[in-house]
Formats: sequence, structure tokens, C-alpha cells
Amino acid sequence: MTDFASTRALFHTPEGVIYLDGNSLGPLPLAAKARVADMIEKEWGEHLIRGWNVAGWMHQPRRIGDRIGRLIGAAEGTVVMGDTLSIKVYQALASALDLNPARRVVLSDSGNFPSDLYMAQGLLQSFGRGLELKVVEPEAVEAAIDDSVAVLMLTEVDYRTGRLHDMKALTKKAHAHGALTVWDLAHSAGALPVDLAGADADFAVGCTYKYLNGGPGAPAFIYVAPRHAETARPALSGWMGHAAPFAFDLDYRAGQGIERMRVGTPPVIALAALDAALDAWDGVSMDDVRAASTALCDLFIAEVEARCPELVLATTRDGFARGSQVSFRHPEGYAIMQALIARGVIGDFRAPDNIRFGLTPLYIGEAEVRGAVEILGDIMANRLWDRPEYRRRAAVT
Ligand SMILES: *Cc1c(COP(=O)(O)O)cnc(C)c1O
Repeated sequence: MTDFASTRALFHTPEGVIYLDGNSLGPLPLAAKARVADMIEKEWGEHLIRGWNVAGWMHQPRRIGDRIGRLIGAAEGTVVMGDTLSIKVYQALASALDLNPARRVVLSDSGNFPSDLYMAQGLLQSFGRGLELKVVEPEAVEAAIDDSVAVLMLTEVDYRTGRLHDMKALTKKAHAHGALTVWDLAHSAGALPVDLAGADADFAVGCTYKYLNGGPGAPAFIYVAPRHAETARPALSGWMGHAAPFAFDLDYRAGQGIERMRVGTPPVIALAALDAALDAWDGVSMDDVRAASTALCDLFIAEVEARCPELVLATTRDGFARGSQVSFRHPEGYAIMQALIARGVIGDFRAPDNIRFGLTPLYIGEAEVRGAVEILGDIMANRLWDRPEYRRRAAVT
């Protein structure tokens, strides 16, 4: 059994804060603080340029990719780190489209994160050749998979409602119709068990600053199924993905397997923080995380519904059909969230009217859930959100 009391001790929690926003930015792992300081002083400070060889900086993207691979059902050597998630979406989609050149449609859904759709729009425009992005309602995805689809590009867990797609079933249907799949695991990796190999996914991408606690701006990951690893053409053909970066050839030759999905110089300091953050997963069973997260979400839903009848549940009650987050709707959702934050309960707001709470058992337990709902109940019952300063929108919501 996973010992959640000991994982909780690995994180810094500010005084007076109940943190229910680890789905946007995980809290600071104490080990990351020490590791980054050490890396800066001993590796950067003392090794200087030699660090690329003697401190293993060059291999970090692969080594850390393998650590993440263990959490998402990916074999050794199939995951690599680098860049941001938006960039990794572009890379995965470009390679998938290239592998299916006779088809014209990229199928996605309206529950996808806008950046994924924006990247697809930009990419299709540059590719030309009459490619089209088709966006349907999440519930209509399965029926929309047909022989015109080149690539099915979905985010497994809906960032607004937490609705979970059936990755295995949709991938199976896509393959039966000759389509490839790109799965975004932004709200899955570290939140619930993922089995990329078992689901037979073609490509997958994800970020590491949400449930993996890698810190603001932590690098993203990309997975390529072994069957595509030597044939996928990298659209972003940077020197770090070259077969021999230090041969300084004038012509690009793709590196071996997943190496080709590297682009430029890796963010070594950020990777050191992420590496330390991943220590928290040693000895953690993802099935235990899932069971605990489902129980926390059930408890949160029951408590909020009992105390705050004017909040409308946006997340499904079915624990198997959602991720590790719960959202409620209210026309004054933004102001309600600001009032909560002012009282130390940190969640976030997603337009148009969702207040969103991430419930992550690595550092959140029943006491935090009950404490948060008590404050939310007070705010709702006494309309404490109804103040002009809570309606003023900040740049990040
Ligand atoms: C968080 C998130 C992103 C953010 O992309 P960045 O490039 O890291 O800013 C993209 N897609 C999804 C599905 C997300 O949840």
C-alpha cells in the first residue's frame, strides 16, 4: 500500500493554504529545492561546459523520459523530454500526419485544450495539401471516427470537466479505420493509471508541471510507439535530434528512435527540478493513487452538494469516467474562486463558469477536503464572493 502520509511530507505547503490546484501547478517538492541548488552550485558552477559530459546533462532528456514512461505504461526508450507541451503537440501531430499521407482530416473535440487546437490549426495551414481540423463534441468523437480520419488527436482528461475518454477503445476504433492517434496526457500523467502500450497509442504528449510537480514551465514529454520510432519524420528537425549532433553536418539525418524528437538544447536546471520531483513517485502505486483520488473526489462532491445547492456539478459522478479533478458551475464562478483564494483555499477558474479543484492524494487528504468545503459553504451561504474586487480579472485565472 502506498503510504500517503510519507508522500505528503515530501512537499512544501505554505501556512494557512489548502492547495487544490495541483492540476495546474503542482506544489514544491522539498527535494527539488535542494537538487536545483546543488545542480547550480556543483554542476554549473564547478563543471561549467564539462557538465554536458561529466554530469550527464546530455542524457537527461532520455533518462527522465524513462522515469515518466514508468508512470504512463511506456517501455524504456520510448519517451523523451523537452520544450513545452504545445511544441510537443505540434511534433506528434506533424509526424502522425506524415505517416498517414493519403488522409485529410484531423479529428479532435471541443473539450480539448485550446492550445492543442491552435497548434493543429497553425500546423495544418503550413502543411497545406487541403488538411482539415474537425472538432466535434466529446460525446460525438467515437461516432465521428471514419475512413477519412488521418489522425485522432485528443486530450484524455477534459481540462474543464475532468471527463475521461476511453483511450483504449477510441484508439482501437481509430486503428480499425486506418487512423493514427495522438493522446495528450496533460491531466492524466500522475493523476491516474495510463497504459500507452496496452492501449496501443501511436503518439502521446504531456506536461510535467501539473500532477508531476516539476515546477512552473517544467519541460514536456513525448512518446512515440516503437513501431513508428524509426519511421516518424520529425517536423522540428533540430540539431539535438540529429543522428550525430557534433558532426555538424550540413544536412539533417534523424537520430535513432525517440532521440529524433529532441529539438534543441535541453533545459538542464528545469530537468534537475523535475528529476527530484519524480522521486516522490518511487514506491507509489498508481492504482492506490487512483483509488484515493476517486474517494477524495466523491467526498468533495457529496460535501459541496450538501452545503452549496446553488453550485452545479460539471463533473460526472462516475469515478471511472473522470480524472482527478472536480468542477462546479456558477455564473459568478470567477468571483467565488477569488473569495476562496482570499481565504486560503486555492483552486482555479476556467471560462465561462467553472470553478475547478484538483484532488491529488500525494499531498491532499480528507481533512483538506472537509476544510475547503467548510470555507466554500460559508462563502456561498453569506454571499462573501459578492464584492467588486473579486470580479476584477487577473491575467491568469
Ligand atoms: C496545460 C495544457 C497545455 C499547456 O501547454 P504548454 O505548452 O505547456 O503551455 C496544453 N494542452 C493541454 C491539454 C493542457 O492541459
